[in-house]
Amino acid sequence: MNGLFETMTRDGHEQVVFCSDATSKLRAIIAIHDTTLGPALGGVRMRPYRTDEEALIDVLRLSRGMTYKNALAGLKLGGGKAVIIGDPAKDKGEMLFRSLGSFVQSLNGRYLIAEDMGIGVEDMMCIMKKTKWVCGLPTSIGGSGDPSPFTAFGVLRGMQACVCEVFGSDSLEGRLIAIQGLGHVGYTLAELIHKEGARLICSEPINADAAEKVRDELGATIVGEDDIYDVECDIFAPCAVGGILNDQTIPRLKCKIVAGAANNQLAVGTRDGLALVERDILYAPDYAINSGGVINISVERDPGGYSADMARSKVAQIYDIMTQLIDTSKLEGIPTHEVADKLAKAMIERGRQAAR
Ligand code: NAD
Repeated sequence: MNGLFETMTRDGHEQVVFCSDATSKLRAIIAIHDTTLGPALGGVRMRPYRTDEEALIDVLRLSRGMTYKNALAGLKLGGGKAVIIGDPAKDKGEMLFRSLGSFVQSLNGRYLIAEDMGIGVEDMMCIMKKTKWVCGLPTSIGGSGDPSPFTAFGVLRGMQACVCEVFGSDSLEGRLIAIQGLGHVGYTLAELIHKEGARLICSEPINADAAEKVRDELGATIVGEDDIYDVECDIFAPCAVGGILNDQTIPRLKCKIVAGAANNQLAVGTRDGLALVERDILYAPDYAINSGGVINISVERDPGGYSADMARSKVAQIYDIMTQLIDTSKLEGIPTHEVADKLAKAMIERGRQAAR
């Protein structure tokens, strides 16, 4: 990539490690964005990237996102990410993951690896054979387990803060909430919301069983993949893919709040964040509201060891983070997604000053 150092300087990346091993056929990139607040935590994802450059752009973008997410959540962690260039359905193997583990080990704790898209528990077990710098493992082997329930709980807490701002009380009783995607997070979120007395409208075009279950057990109405944007509701909760808030969908929304788990919800940050403000829709910035999973993982590093209760009480504080974002947004007259970036940067800067 031409101008790699300029890009790293502009976006603040500390280190990019290109990992190549002819024997295992490993081709991976580890990006450490910022370690001011602590070691760089971020998952490894495996994808059949079409070019090396595409993989590099992805890992640079994702590692930077992790720095902001970890900082805003108040964690003593920096941001990093790893990508493996390969097809998870065809190119996996023990040697490949052991080789990646050796590269992670060589960074001596500057990067903490966890599971992400295309990676399973068995793969993490192979990585663990070569490095101790692994996080987010199943509870059966001493880790913090599946992060999704904590992510869902954090989204619920963020929603409550938004509802308090818009409707004057943080109760979800009687509210109508539209969930896009009933996967690991979306399904659990539907259950939590139902328990709070809210009504549900959901879209899930792929997993018919999940859609049937929320309809039969939680009384949800199921709508088509594209119809979810037109639903008249209090909250739209994107819990599937990124880029769904764009110039085509935002004019169609009939909600007061957007608050969901999906990463990278705004197709074009500045443009679409502003478009939501213009439509008088309160946006819960994705990386602020979906940090429950990473907060849960961070508890593994507590001196006393992992405790689910401790994780839950820390995740509950997403309510306060969201309230702070809303208050600052009103005070300074800037959209919530910009406030999130600003606060995260300020936290990193404070850490940098303190370290001097
Ligand atoms: P998942 O793959 O388990 O679930 C996604 C669901 O969305 C699937 O059921 C899929 O069929 C459905 N889906 C796909 N395209 C859709 C569409 N166009 N409309 C409606 N539904 C669609 O993923 P997950 O772990 O539940 O994560 C959901 C989102 O939250 C992702 O964007 C993920 O990056 C983000 N996230 C997840 C976590 C976590 O702890 N799992 C943490 C932070 C962020």
